[in-house]
Amino acid sequence: MASRYPLAPSLARLAGRRSISIAAAGRIRSHGQAPLAATARCFSSSRPRPLQQTPSQRVKLTSETYPDIKRDSRFAPLTQEHVAYFRGIIGSDSAVIDGVTNESAADDIEPFNSDWMGKYRGQCKLVLKPGSTEEVSKILKYCNDNLLAVVPQGGNTGLVGGSVPVFDEIVINLSRMNQIVEFDEVSGALVVGAGCILEVADQFLATKGYIFPLDLGAKGSCQIGGNLSTNAGGLRLLRYGSLHGSTLGIEAVLADGTIVDDLCKLRKNNTGYDLKQLFIGAEGTIGIITKASIQCPQRSAAQNVAFFGLESFDKVQQAFREAKGQLSEILSAFELMDESSQALVGEVTENRRPLEGKYPFYCLIETSGSNADHDSEKLGAFLEDVMEKGIVSDGTLAQDETQIKALWAWREGIAEALGHLGGVYKYDVSIPLQEMYQLVEDTKARIDAAGLLGDTDEHPVRDVIGYGHMGDSNLHLNVSTRRFDKRVEQCLEPFIYEWIEKRQGSISAEHGLGLQKKNYIGYSRNATTIGLMKGLKTHFDPKGILNPYKYI
Ligand SMILES: Cc1cc2nc3c(=O)[nH]c(=O)nc-3n(C[C@H](O)[C@H](O)[C@H](O)COP(=O)(O)OP(=O)(O)OC[C@H]3O[C@@H](n4cnc5c(N)ncnc54)[C@H](O)[C@@H]3O)c2cc1C
Repeated sequence: MASRYPLAPSLARLAGRRSISIAAAGRIRSHGQAPLAATARCFSSSRPRPLQQTPSQRVKLTSETYPDIKRDSRFAPLTQEHVAYFRGIIGSDSAVIDGVTNESAADDIEPFNSDWMGKYRGQCKLVLKPGSTEEVSKILKYCNDNLLAVVPQGGNTGLVGGSVPVFDEIVINLSRMNQIVEFDEVSGALVVGAGCILEVADQFLATKGYIFPLDLGAKGSCQIGGNLSTNAGGLRLLRYGSLHGSTLGIEAVLADGTIVDDLCKLRKNNTGYDLKQLFIGAEGTIGIITKASIQCPQRSAAQNVAFFGLESFDKVQQAFREAKGQLSEILSAFELMDESSQALVGEVTENRRPLEGKYPFYCLIETSGSNADHDSEKLGAFLEDVMEKGIVSDGTLAQDETQIKALWAWREGIAEALGHLGGVYKYDVSIPLQEMYQLVEDTKARIDAAGLLGDTDEHPVRDVIGYGHMGDSNLHLNVSTRRFDKRVEQCLEPFIYEWIEKRQGSISAEHGLGLQKKNYIGYSRNATTIGLMKGLKTHFDPKGILNPYKYI
């Protein structure tokens, strides 16, 4: 690897002048223009799922991939009478996709059966899209009374197979419950329907000078109810904390149809157990969230994004430490990408890379504050300092909204780019920072030693990639494959979970357990906590109709 790239002195210079621009295709060079503009964070939409797949593109059934999982014979098969009852509740024809009495509906149901990664596929024959909490309540009561299993579904962007059925569970999709119910412009409390798309909520808040305290690459498709149910972390957890902190209240429906109205809009409420917390991260196993009240922060007037290359993971850690110390209150994101991940995005998008040289690691830093001059000065001084100390080898700084968006695309586009090249085995884990990247190297070595990694078609694995939310010690380990292959899965599991357990990490940092990690929860939780969780599940859903075969 080259040592410090020639841009280093120019960045150091521009840091003093705070004036740079993109010369071509995202490359940023210094010149004497106005200071960085205060920009709003750009939006990007996640990939829309195809409405129809040809039979050859169809994902293998989950029950074929995992033949050990058997359908629970307690659950009743769906009949014409059941469908007629649901039609009576929901009314609207388009809100019931019925493959029970109408075989030609199979193609319409397919997108609700298959997950975003193309890894899991269920055999559901009925999709219900209720329009109100009362309808959800009536549907669940009937399902509970008649032992019909259900899967709550939001935007279906979940990455652990939790959002799609395994067998013939009914999909209850919340997309029609997408209202912005109310917003308090003084306190910042937002009340929304669970089916509201995250990006829509954030765009609404932007018009009021506020921001949704969660942001992630799937924002154009995922829903607030899904975000809460997975306790999604995303790109700004570093700044705004987790949804456990920013959720003020929840309305949910239990398995037997009981409506739990805990839709508090106050920051303080110590009157008893904080029941809403149980629904956050429960992945639809103890109830269906129908509304939520969220504490939204003021939108920052000034935003800056820097992207830089580093020679080692040790230097990444040093840069993170310096960023926390020097940027403190304005630091809103610190993201990590390795060279493999960036090469992949480049290959798929054919866009010009932000830096001229290649580095083993790249970091994206975002600052958000109220004073553009002050923030630019701080970021400039930080960049100058880390370059002078030899921590960072090269860097670029966005000047306007388009450039901010272009730089973020190199981070946010990784998941999408991976999806273009075949299957991906995804592991979303928390590991103490010092050892975070070691997992990528050890996994790659293991796959290579097993003869599974290579450039030609007989090797199922293309590459092993690491990126993630460095600021939260959260690594996304992705094994990019030409096709899903049991040999790869067996090589990875339980190896990865054992590796994490030895370091007291978490096998699920932010994506949840779903189907993928159900059998591995013991690597991160002890018998007592698992016992308590099972007790809660039984208490809330004694017949087990909510999202069976998953979670715990
Ligand atoms: C490109 C991309 C980037 C991503 N980036 C991140 C990231 O940075 N951080 C992160 O944490 N995740 C990330 N994810 C994962 C995913 O987007 C999140 O988990 C998201 O919160 C899921 O929301 P959803 O509406 O799509 O839920 P779904 O996928 O539909 O459902 C997820 C789970 O929640 C349950 N559920 C859904 N809605 C409800 C409801 N109303 N009530 C009860 N249960 C419900 C489902 O049964 C399922 O178990 C990413 C995904 C993609 C595709």
